[in-house]
Amino acid sequence: MRHCLSEARSECADTNGRRDVYLTFDDGPDPLCTPDVLDVLAEHRVPATFCVIGAYAADQPKLIRRMIAEGHEVANHTMTHPDLSRCEPTEVQREILTASRVIRMASPHASLRYMRAPYGMWTEAVFTTSASAGLAPLHWSVDPRDWSRPGVDAIVSAVLDSVRPGAIVLLHDGCPPDELGRCTHAGRREQTLMALSLMIPALHDRGFAIRSLPQPNRTNQTPYEHACRN
Ligand SMILES: [Zn+2]
Repeated sequence: MRHCLSEARSECADTNGRRDVYLTFDDGPDPLCTPDVLDVLAEHRVPATFCVIGAYAADQPKLIRRMIAEGHEVANHTMTHPDLSRCEPTEVQREILTASRVIRMASPHASLRYMRAPYGMWTEAVFTTSASAGLAPLHWSVDPRDWSRPGVDAIVSAVLDSVRPGAIVLLHDGCPPDELGRCTHAGRREQTLMALSLMIPALHDRGFAIRSLPQPNRTNQTPYEHACRN
């Protein structure tokens, strides 16, 4: 393990004084949870970015098309959600490129701009492959750990306590394939759903605007220091 400076966008610093925040949902699409998340977003008329797992997108192409039709963005979260720092470069390439292909098959009009590494494990191979696939790395700055089911109030207050202009919030509308068998509740996201319906109005009350992610712009990215294995 060594320390390195990554190029992944963990927040958007170029908000020009606006109080913009960005919601991202990882590990879907899930046939049970994702439609409910889309309903809540539609009810509040706010956009989000869905970092989808290619294998799930292949099973749920209609949900990919619904995301796009309702004004959301779809991002690449690999084909099977491995820890890419443990993968050979050819496997990294296959994971990223196959996911992009599957998403484009589901929705040819999807403009794929971002890639999020599973577990935030960024390596040089991940950056290189993403760049060659036209994908900018997307990290996050606010993580309420909703996947661990800490309670609705804990998720909402974790977001409200650490959110600031340009924040990228990490939430989950699904569960990675290798975690599904570990616990019967692993895939259930009802806390996330309830927290979402509370945090959107709470963010608006605090003067934040929930927006679509801006165009990737390398020069404006906030460097994000983290540990990576490579
Ligand atoms: Zn994930």
